[in-house]
Amino acid sequence: MSDIIAKLEKTKLLGRGGAAFPTHLKWQMVLDQKSDTKYIVANGSEGEPATEKDGYIVEHYPELLVEGLRIALETIDNSSAFIYLRKDYFKKYKANLKKIIGDLPIEIFEEKGGYLSGEETMVCQEIEAGLLRPRHKPPFPGQVGIFGQPTLINNIETFYYVAKIARGEYHNEKMYTIVGDVKNPGVYELSGELSVKQVLEQTKNYPDFKFYTQVGGGASGTILLSSELTIPAQGSASIVVYNQAKTDPYELMEKWIKFFMAENCDKCTPCREGTYRLAEMIKNKQIDKEHFEDLLFTLENTSFCALGKMVVAPFRTLADKILKL
Ligand code: SF4
Repeated sequence: MSDIIAKLEKTKLLGRGGAAFPTHLKWQMVLDQKSDTKYIVANGSEGEPATEKDGYIVEHYPELLVEGLRIALETIDNSSAFIYLRKDYFKKYKANLKKIIGDLPIEIFEEKGGYLSGEETMVCQEIEAGLLRPRHKPPFPGQVGIFGQPTLINNIETFYYVAKIARGEYHNEKMYTIVGDVKNPGVYELSGELSVKQVLEQTKNYPDFKFYTQVGGGASGTILLSSELTIPAQGSASIVVYNQAKTDPYELMEKWIKFFMAENCDKCTPCREGTYRLAEMIKNKQIDKEHFEDLLFTLENTSFCALGKMVVAPFRTLADKILKL
């Protein structure tokens, strides 16, 4: 095992794109493949609303991102790399990144699509041919990725922490994005062991009014009541605070469903039709519990890719905890 992969295992670094897969296993999988060509991608698609940590890293710590990629290039034989950026990040940060990259074999790639473009197989499809549709897993990109070659795809925050681990400067920190009805919105780097409540307290954002939160993304995140904030922030570690007196749950659901309908690719029936039917119910403010649960069950269990499955958590938890259906 390479020195850096051993360190990734020892520090238990989990991928920071939301899925929390052990980073050392991903790296080892790509390392183990026999191929004359391999690819590495730093994924900065960051299409989840209320999540801004990757943009924050590219703006404030681009050297550490490139250092993490350089370590990956040195570890994985025959490899070249991409920094895959959403459109606004590409425009803002391309010139500076280019300067830092210098002669390293790293290309800066502007993603073509939106939310769905951050999904791993979409990253491969877009880089290969600009195709805006996901493909089936398995095989995983670590085995069959860009142009059929083994491809290591990690989030930008993950590469940032790879560099810190190599320097011996990592102590289980995490980037949190805090937005919504708060006094001090922004991106904060704090211990990954904190509870959501502690994060809000330490950033002086804990509300003095009745509220609930959405944790792990401003669209796909889970609703947590103020009494449930003793757990760490999951997913992309974003925290949205909603003032309960000022937030209409139907307006909130309408915002989410419009987002999912606009961002899905219409490839599969459960997600295309399921989101449409959910939107109908929300617009009419008539939620039949049985029908609602059927739709969520179908989305969760039969959607082709992660987007359809991710629709479920916010609606189910809001319906249970706020609407009390
Ligand atoms: S789940 Fe949604 S985004 Fe994914 S393939 Fe189906 S329609 Fe497209």
